[in-house]
Amino acid sequence: KNRTVLLATEKAFAAGAVAKIETVVKEAKYTLKKLENYKSKDDLLAAVEGVDAMIIRSDIVDAAVLEKAAQLKIVVRAGAGYDNIDLKACEAKSVVAMNTPGQNANAVAELVFGMMIVSARNNFDGTSGFELVNREIAFYGFGAVARAVHKLAVGFGMKSFAYDPYIPAEKIKEMGAEPVTSVAGLFEHQYVSLHVPLTEETKASINKDLLSKMPKGGTLINTARVEVVHEADMLEILKVRPDFCYLCDVAPKDIEPFKAAVGDKFGKRLIFTKKKMGAQTAEANDNAGVAAANQIVGFFEKGETAAWRVVLEVLQPADE
Ligand code: NAD
Repeated sequence: KNRTVLLATEKAFAAGAVAKIETVVKEAKYTLKKLENYKSKDDLLAAVEGVDAMIIRSDIVDAAVLEKAAQLKIVVRAGAGYDNIDLKACEAKSVVAMNTPGQNANAVAELVFGMMIVSARNNFDGTSGFELVNREIAFYGFGAVARAVHKLAVGFGMKSFAYDPYIPAEKIKEMGAEPVTSVAGLFEHQYVSLHVPLTEETKASINKDLLSKMPKGGTLINTARVEVVHEADMLEILKVRPDFCYLCDVAPKDIEPFKAAVGDKFGKRLIFTKKKMGAQTAEANDNAGVAAANQIVGFFEKGETAAWRVVLEVLQPADE
């Protein structure tokens, strides 16, 4: 059956990644329809009519999109996380929602270390900094990205800790990290790195209580989602603790007061990217785009419905 796959990307993939996606789709004898760099929701609403599958990035797939996409069976987010897909609405319309877990994990992990080194070396300002060897890093969530960061941390001679209630402690130990039994327990370590999805449970969960427990030189690394951090509390901590650093992939929403709070120590204490760029590497783009296309073909041709995992994770978190 000739299926139509819509590649709907408000921020387009690099041409090389699109070519690879196209190859996978054509090999399955499907048609690839492209809506790249679109400017308005109306463009998306018009494009989804008649398509069987969609590949998206941070594009919003909500009830309105699903309403127009009467023939849609599957939507795949080429990337991690799924907070841009209305999963309940997907479930109601029996549309399968997937992401491409792990495909950008290494890209994000390298960014984490990039930010840590810039911070430890005082933004390369010529002053004496410190080394990461023998320091401790604790992970909130121990999925694909956290594990990739952990792997690098081992190479740097750091000690890792992890809190993830959906992974058995034994498994965390096997992977070489020390299991921590509560979120608060993470904040006893110098570095805390956030790797949880944005959910009702994690939203604004990193607050003043937790941050104020951090030891001297406490540093929060956020490559998850800005919304996981309670912004007003973070601002307060930066104001009252001159030793505290916040390294984040994408600036806090209301950035100006943050810049004012850290003053001239800006480079070291507050490091943020101009745009969310954890997954912005040629490799991650290719990996995620191709995985998305393969998952769509696997779904239609072999009935691979590991897909529902994503929906289930939200409604009822799985073991792993
Ligand atoms: P993943 O699904 O592999 O891992 C997420 C882990 O979090 C899972 O092990 C899960 O059990 C755990 N978890 C869920 N709820 C939790 C909770 N309340 N407490 C503790 N642990 C919990 O996802 P990933 O690929 O590792 O990515 C993690 C998050 O990072 C994504 O959801 C996404 O928001 C973000 N991310 C950002 C970028 C970027 O460009 N900055 C790129 C990739 C991922």
